[in-house]
Amino acid sequence: MSRIEELLNQFSEIAKSPKKQLNQYLAQGKKAIGCFPYYVPEELVYAADMVPFGIWGQTGGTINQAKEYFAAFYCTIAQLNLEMGLKGTLDGLSGVIASSMCDTLRPFTQNFRVACPDFPFMFLAHPQNRRPEYGVEFTMAQYKNVKDKLEEIGGAEISDESLKNAIKVYNESRAVRRRFVELAGEHPEIVTPKKRNAVLKSAYFMLKSEHTELLKELNELLEKSPKVEWKGTKIVTSGIVLDSPSLLEIIENNNMAIVADDMAHESRAIRVDVPEDEENPMKALALQFAAQDYDTLLYDPEINKRPEYIVNKVKESKADGVVIMMMQFCDPEEIEFPSLKKGLDEAGIPYVKIGMDQQMTNFGQARTSLQAFSDVLSVNK
Ligand code: SF4
Repeated sequence: MSRIEELLNQFSEIAKSPKKQLNQYLAQGKKAIGCFPYYVPEELVYAADMVPFGIWGQTGGTINQAKEYFAAFYCTIAQLNLEMGLKGTLDGLSGVIASSMCDTLRPFTQNFRVACPDFPFMFLAHPQNRRPEYGVEFTMAQYKNVKDKLEEIGGAEISDESLKNAIKVYNESRAVRRRFVELAGEHPEIVTPKKRNAVLKSAYFMLKSEHTELLKELNELLEKSPKVEWKGTKIVTSGIVLDSPSLLEIIENNNMAIVADDMAHESRAIRVDVPEDEENPMKALALQFAAQDYDTLLYDPEINKRPEYIVNKVKESKADGVVIMMMQFCDPEEIEFPSLKKGLDEAGIPYVKIGMDQQMTNFGQARTSLQAFSDVLSVNK
């Protein structure tokens, strides 16, 4: 087995078994904090010498107890996050941080607080107007609440020095993951959609310093690998999360390479670094949020620039089309779909919209749509 295969397998194992990974950290005497999606400033957790642990629902999970708290029209990410809390899957975490970025996450935060009172709970409200000075100050005040609570849980102050170090670690992690996304696009014969997802997903369950070390090695090996002409088609994925092994396998089996993405779980989370030249690290974190863009969850006072962003992604990555993974009952993504459709139509870029949720077990319709889309892209090439 080549070293590249070894590394890819290592990432896959971690992505498949987050609980095992969590238990390893706990056995080392570390505390871990659950971070619900998204825009949680994980740097604060890292600076508190705890492990930030990403929680994005549970692909293939079943919702039972959470039904008591949610109407059926809430997305499965929120419902499964609560289900995990209720079922004990999150046991071992020393607390959770939940943001209220959408109309589903807002009730989720309160339901989780009531339903799972044993978890110290850190509520995080981001401002609609994130860029003006008052928006930056609001974000700082929210982050300060989280910092205070983390200090209480960790029993120690989070110094500016440790936060600046955490910012460096996270900026490096984001840069290395962005480079991996490029290299995965250049080497689809090595980094299949499932392996690509495993590398990015595993970052949610590892200390970023450890993830970066492994990923830098993988990137170096990929950089040295000769480029091979890709005979299949190339796509950009867009949506909230695409980590279902069955869906990724369908994409793989139809010879579609993911050459770039606009997934919240993947590239949206690593687009913007924290400015390292800002003296106040809390302000630096708030400035990072202020600089976020092209996201269905963020208020855009001007025109919606996301379609143009995705069109450019397609052009830059020389993709043949876009696969839009539409999470059921995700209002932000559904509301923005018409503008995305218009942008792609005007640019003459083929796309397909696949309805999905995290409880999905029947993939027949998705398989047929992706197969037909793959045929269309092959004919267009
Ligand atoms: S953004 Fe969409 S998928 Fe994410 S929590 Fe909100 S409704 Fe659910």
